[in-house]
Amino acid sequence: MNITAVDVFTLRHTLREPFGFSQWWYSQRTALLVRVTADNGLVGWGECYGDAAVNAAVVRDFCGPRVVGQDPRRIGVIWEDLYNRSRDYGRKGAFVAGLSGLDLALWDLQGKALGVPVSTLLGGARVDRVEAYATGMYFTRGGQQASKLAEEAAHYVGQGFRAVKMKVGLGLAADLANVRAVRRAIGPDIRLAIDANHAFSARAAIELGLHAAVEGLWWFEEPVAPEDLDGYADVRAALQPQGVAIAGGECEATRFGFRDLCVRRCVDLLQPDLGAAGGFTAGLQIAALAGAFGLELRPHTWGSAVAVAAALQFLAALPETPGALVPGERWLELDQTENPLRDELIPGFPERDGPWVKVPDGPGLGIEPRLEQLAPWLV
Ligand SMILES: [Mg+2]
Repeated sequence: MNITAVDVFTLRHTLREPFGFSQWWYSQRTALLVRVTADNGLVGWGECYGDAAVNAAVVRDFCGPRVVGQDPRRIGVIWEDLYNRSRDYGRKGAFVAGLSGLDLALWDLQGKALGVPVSTLLGGARVDRVEAYATGMYFTRGGQQASKLAEEAAHYVGQGFRAVKMKVGLGLAADLANVRAVRRAIGPDIRLAIDANHAFSARAAIELGLHAAVEGLWWFEEPVAPEDLDGYADVRAALQPQGVAIAGGECEATRFGFRDLCVRRCVDLLQPDLGAAGGFTAGLQIAALAGAFGLELRPHTWGSAVAVAAALQFLAALPETPGALVPGERWLELDQTENPLRDELIPGFPERDGPWVKVPDGPGLGIEPRLEQLAPWLV
């Protein structure tokens, strides 16, 4: 079997209402899908996380010419070759995002070639469904932020979610008002994580964390800049006595990047995004690191149905570390903001019952994007 083509598809949806987080405003959602075609007619699909145009250039102009003609089953060889060929100027960011989308597509193709889901290739599914937490509660324009967030959070709880994640990063007073309003709306039993998207210095993050901890926090995500591992360590040391876990890693990539988070032990929860950290190939390596260092994995997921399907395959196969009579938790991040690329790309997917999302059991990723389905959003 040989690869005959690597194609990219940019999808775009213009939002009815823009929303913001600590760094910028979104007015549209985009996704870059990667399709690998083999000479026997099989195709595999993947998705890159990050800027679609930049990632498209990496996949189309850097990865594509180097892998056409190669055997798509030699995924590890292809991964290492592309990583080594871009090491001098890559190592994370768009180069690894491009490699990630290609890697996901190769695993999808491999699963289809063997007639098994990717979870089987990753070691075998331990579960057939995964609990999702609702990501939402972004900032909107027009004031009354706290009451709007509270209403949104209550809506998710009404939908059956038992855990939610909200945005912070507006400054101490506004963030605390929002967190308190959301906690009041969801009651004491729903898990509530906050995500600053690296908006704070360590000092400011600790100040917010100490005040917000009173409300009961599941975790505090990306409190400081991804480069600031000392800051992460300071925040973790200050908030650990309050029972607040620190999460990070959605901006990090490969075993090398996550090695540093593990060795420094500056986070409790590692959050690789399969579309940014190096695909399933790197995901397995990061999972091995997490297990060896005794840290928990909470993969970051933000994208189309392809990214969600990849996350489900990965989560289903995550090893039980350390293992117990009652299985450990595995959580799917399920963004709930307006995005038809996630909810309408594949009819009937994701299949959710309350907080539980079914792991697709068909070959590969278990979903099959079709060009005619992509058409409404194709750029
Ligand atoms: Mg985040």
